[in-house]
Amino acid sequence: MAKLKLEKVTKNFGKVEVIKGVDLVAEHGEFVVFVGPSGCGKSTMLRLITGLESVTSGQILIDGQDLTHAKPSDRGVAMVFQSYALFPHLNVADNIGFGLRLAKLPKADIERRVAEVARILRVEELLDRKPRQLSGGQRQRVAIGRSIIRDPKVFLFDEPLSNLDAALRVIMRLEIARLHSRLGATMIYVTHDQTEAMTLANRIVVFNAGMIEQVGSPMQLYDRPANKFVAGFIGSPAMNFLTAMQDQPDGVGSLSVSGGTVAIGRSVNTPPSERITLGVRPEHVAIVSSEAADLIAKVEIVEELGAESLVYFQAAGSNQQVTMRTSSGVQPKPGDQVSLRFDRERIHLFGSDGRSLAK
Ligand code: ADP
Ligand code: MG
Repeated sequence: MAKLKLEKVTKNFGKVEVIKGVDLVAEHGEFVVFVGPSGCGKSTMLRLITGLESVTSGQILIDGQDLTHAKPSDRGVAMVFQSYALFPHLNVADNIGFGLRLAKLPKADIERRVAEVARILRVEELLDRKPRQLSGGQRQRVAIGRSIIRDPKVFLFDEPLSNLDAALRVIMRLEIARLHSRLGATMIYVTHDQTEAMTLANRIVVFNAGMIEQVGSPMQLYDRPANKFVAGFIGSPAMNFLTAMQDQPDGVGSLSVSGGTVAIGRSVNTPPSERITLGVRPEHVAIVSSEAADLIAKVEIVEELGAESLVYFQAAGSNQQVTMRTSSGVQPKPGDQVSLRFDRERIHLFGSDGRSLAK
């Protein structure tokens, strides 16, 4: 267990600044998940922490010790990649124990440690097999085993489950949650999978273009996104965004959007002329009687997913899209015209610069 601290970390590749001053603390035993669009610097950040890349400026500390310029092998950090490069000619036991053999530990110690790690990862039955005789999930467990055996202070995972099929990802997600509670280790985990991020994280860090947009618990980010970027990135299907104008002349409590008017019952702390964005998650949209309507919309597509349905609308008189998530049951048909209402408690407003205009 260890506390990881990043202070004003930057990284340039040539003239391009890829990491633009990142400050972050991962507490002892914390599970921190990095999310963000492709190319925003998540992998680079992990490579800086392991020492596979050197920082341009800033500091990396583990338990107060400055490791910014330490060799990767001296940092007590282990990384598991998406493509788990196992040695094809070595069996599972030798793959897991490889790092310890390299460190010239006595054979008996290595065997004991391999057995322990194999038990934790439930690959005891597979120790004699070669990687090609394993399923994807088993291979990934062996790759994790190789890093556990070194007893690192900090684990880094770079999209470790992306190569697995959907069913296996669910199983491995639980494995990783178990592993975390069992080892109590500090873990940094990069994923583009919303469910992995929401379920595994103690805290999620949302990256965008080399900077942190927001850090918080999954539900903080879901309920109180600091800006439109985070609001749109967390949650699947994504939050609906509607361009809105405050109704003149008083600008109090009423917003014009495509296809209707939304009475929000509070003033918005921006000039009435500012173009703002109303955000509402698909689960906070409902079909209502016409008197209660916020807007009129036409059903485009209905997706029945079993436990729930997704309904895609187009607001009347515009090309504004709105998505609704509902429990399954009788759904409208494509082409139907319906009245939609947004849950007043769950409406988000964003200024023209994207910042949240929280209540
Ligand atoms: P992510 O993992 O979030 O998808 P990366 O950290 O891999 O993003 O990359 C961030 C940016 O840095 C990208 O624009 C990428 O092209 C660039 N980059 C990554 N590694 C190098 C490198 N070794 N040399 C030059 N540019 C790089
Ligand atoms: Mg990456």
